[in-house]
Amino acid sequence: MAPWFSEGESIDRQKFITLLNVYPSDPELNLLLDQAVRITKVDSRQDLYPLFSVCPAGEKSNLAHTDIKDFTYWNALTPPGYSVSWKSPQAQSDINLSYQMVESRLSTHIELKGSILNGICFKAGIPLARAVITLTHELAHYVDHQMTIKDNMLQYADAQNFASEVLYAKGGEYAAYQMQMKTLRALQKEFQIDESELNISRLSAFFDHDGRVINPEGLETFILSDYPSGLGYAKTFKLEYREQLIRSEKSLTSLIDWLTGGLAQSIQTNITKFSRTAREYEDILPQWSAAKRTPEQDRKYAEMLVKYEQTKSWVKFYSTYQNDLYSNIGAINQRLSQTIDQIRNQ
Ligand SMILES: [Zn+2]
Repeated sequence: MAPWFSEGESIDRQKFITLLNVYPSDPELNLLLDQAVRITKVDSRQDLYPLFSVCPAGEKSNLAHTDIKDFTYWNALTPPGYSVSWKSPQAQSDINLSYQMVESRLSTHIELKGSILNGICFKAGIPLARAVITLTHELAHYVDHQMTIKDNMLQYADAQNFASEVLYAKGGEYAAYQMQMKTLRALQKEFQIDESELNISRLSAFFDHDGRVINPEGLETFILSDYPSGLGYAKTFKLEYREQLIRSEKSLTSLIDWLTGGLAQSIQTNITKFSRTAREYEDILPQWSAAKRTPEQDRKYAEMLVKYEQTKSWVKFYSTYQNDLYSNIGAINQRLSQTIDQIRNQ
């Protein structure tokens, strides 16, 4: 079976088209490609080629790899009717590069989360059929990537629990291997494929002729257990569990620093500023007696009343915010100490 591309070759548009030319006609597999086109915001499948590259030489046994970066930014809550802007150059650049994003309004702050695809690489020299099935495996990771699965690490009882949640998550390895085998079976219906050249017989044994899993426990064990009997993911997931706990400890610490430092101060500044302005309006308004006002002054008076009400509502907003902030900081602190305990116990 001819290799899709050799060492030193790059994946250009033409190269990528050779792969699309043998892509199976199965609807589910085509939906996956369509989703990739949609989230990448390109016009056609051929335009997906810049996502792909050749894996650096010397990268161990992996045939392919998907590199996704998740990001989180925080912003203060804003009074109703005001939208948040994410101003820093880094945030702007991440937002522009992201392919999925979610903004959540919490009681202490607004959180912006997103994912950026750094790229998908294929190992040079893999056969064309292997490249196609690897493509759907990696696209499953890309399209269904769960950017919030590593939030709230304390929702997982332990490393074992985390490993199985990550394994079975949408866009996780279990789903990716299912997609991969579905692709192989679809290819086999359209072309003469010699499985022995694909080095996939052990994985293949867990699936039937239509690519359905016939031995789920066996497949789970195969993916999780150590080399050489399995694919070695349990080790990876457990290391990740610890790493993520350490990361969430760091992000909770910096969140608390930001909430108690800069944010609490700026809330206090706003309360003071808006209270002062509200008092100024209170001083001025009685002086504008209705009898002496011209129509133009009437209009200005009405405008002032609106601004006065708005200013008072902002004072109220920030005071409530401040109270919520301090009661939530306590809860975040508690999570932080639990995280530290869990890391120590690993
Ligand atoms: Zn994978």
